[in-house]
Amino acid sequence: MMIDIIILNRNLRLLDNAALFYGSLRSNYIVVYLYDEKYWNANGKSLRQLKFSNDCLEELNENLLKINSEINIFEGTFNELQRWIEKNFNDFFIHINHCTDIKYFRDGFERFKKHFDKRLRIYDDFGLQLNNFDRDAWSKNWNHIMQSDLIGAPKASNNDLEINLTKFNSYKNKINKNFGELKNIQKGGTKVAAELLESFMHQRCQGYRTKMSSPVLSEDSCSRLSPHFTYGSVSIRQVYQKLNELLPTLRNQKDLYSFKKRLYWHCHFVQKLHTEPDLEFHSMHRMCDELRIEHDEELIDKWIKGETGFPFLDACMKFLNKNGWINFRMRAMIMSFASYNMWQPWQKTSPLLAKLFTDYEPGIHISQVQMQSGVTGINLPRIYSVAKQSIDQDPSADWIKSLIPQLDNINPKLIHNAELNESYIPKIVDLKSSTKFARDQIWGIRKSKIFKDEAKKVFLKHGSRRKRKVKTN
Ligand SMILES: Cc1cc2nc3c(=O)[nH]c(=O)nc-3n(C[C@H](O)[C@H](O)[C@H](O)COP(=O)(O)OP(=O)(O)OC[C@H]3O[C@@H](n4cnc5c(N)ncnc54)[C@H](O)[C@@H]3O)c2cc1C
Repeated sequence: MMIDIIILNRNLRLLDNAALFYGSLRSNYIVVYLYDEKYWNANGKSLRQLKFSNDCLEELNENLLKINSEINIFEGTFNELQRWIEKNFNDFFIHINHCTDIKYFRDGFERFKKHFDKRLRIYDDFGLQLNNFDRDAWSKNWNHIMQSDLIGAPKASNNDLEINLTKFNSYKNKINKNFGELKNIQKGGTKVAAELLESFMHQRCQGYRTKMSSPVLSEDSCSRLSPHFTYGSVSIRQVYQKLNELLPTLRNQKDLYSFKKRLYWHCHFVQKLHTEPDLEFHSMHRMCDELRIEHDEELIDKWIKGETGFPFLDACMKFLNKNGWINFRMRAMIMSFASYNMWQPWQKTSPLLAKLFTDYEPGIHISQVQMQSGVTGINLPRIYSVAKQSIDQDPSADWIKSLIPQLDNINPKLIHNAELNESYIPKIVDLKSSTKFARDQIWGIRKSKIFKDEAKKVFLKHGSRRKRKVKTN
């Protein structure tokens, strides 16, 4: 009798999960999670992300056990999984959700898809438009996807097959040993995601539009749903529909509209990487790859450890290192500093930063990194001033001092301007001259006709056709 094999990757929830639902319809299915150690060590991936995804898996496993199913762990690559399937089953059909991810994943996935071809069905993910998509109709299609019916719970399994794979709990016990120092990382799972959405919509969103810029206030006033979207403990569509349903009855409507717009941005950015996977390694505007050729390991090392000599920037890095999250504005400033003031190629800095984010979503991360490095050709370059952000976001410098206690007795003004002599580590760059250098370079390259012609092509491929009244955060 034909068996349905459901393969999980980053869609770790019970409901609104197409592969799980359609794979379960004949009630003769197994659920397999592919754990590939090499993937978790690849471009931008890290232990904190694995920890979060394991939380999601754990809850999903508990839910599956209630319907006579469970998660089986396959340890290895897509290639090895392919061989295991063929060795163990004659008559089978594979179900898997699409996932836009880094090259390592994509290469394995593409080979797997090609190999199984008609024995495999791939389901669309989020608001992505996988095949023959039309940029001009993208926004309309996205709305349509968001408004379509949610997919229900999978059917219970009737099969009692003994599968020669590791069970979730033994896998968990083995993997958990690696997570010792990651105590502050957000917890994963559908229940936590639902609680976050609830508290955000009803209370925490008050003042969202302004508080989101502050690293101090945003911790509580942003939704904090990002890693949940990355690992799929909730779908964008579930959140979109819940929000639409309750919106007329909720206070803080402007804040919530602002949040809703970002759900669209999420998919808009992931679509860029799906459309052009080479963006993982090349600038959207290819001429910009010529801007920063050389890199300096030592400088990059100081930046990622939060040892730049600029207290506000260093505090952001220390916060991010510890918690696995920081707000949009600070992410943009961190990246702008690396690309403009340090003049380092984004290809070298981006994966290091990604590793620190629990919510690392390659499509968003890579697009944003490129925007904040001035290499898309279609967005106006913006160089953040660390000193200005420091004054605006932490005027008393109390937040900085909480993260860098050695500055406890120092006047905030000196901290903002990084005028600290031997009270703190030396500055790795001069802010004023490095900003001028970067501005000259970046605007210099943008002047030529050939740059502008290429930029038009980039816009046709990736530019949003929605009219924006606001900046991207
Ligand atoms: C350099 C850089 C790297 C980034 N890397 C990532 C990443 O790897 N993963 C990630 O999810 N976000 C990334 N962002 C976007 C943004 O910073 C985070 O989505 C946000 O801080 C997550 O917190 P939240 O869920 O509380 O956001 P909220 O403000 O509550 O927003 C809700 C959701 O909207 C989406 N969203 C919000 N802002 C943006 C944006 N500017 N672009 C696209 N989608 C957005 C996210 O899915 C987010 O969870 C990056 C931004 C920059 C500048």
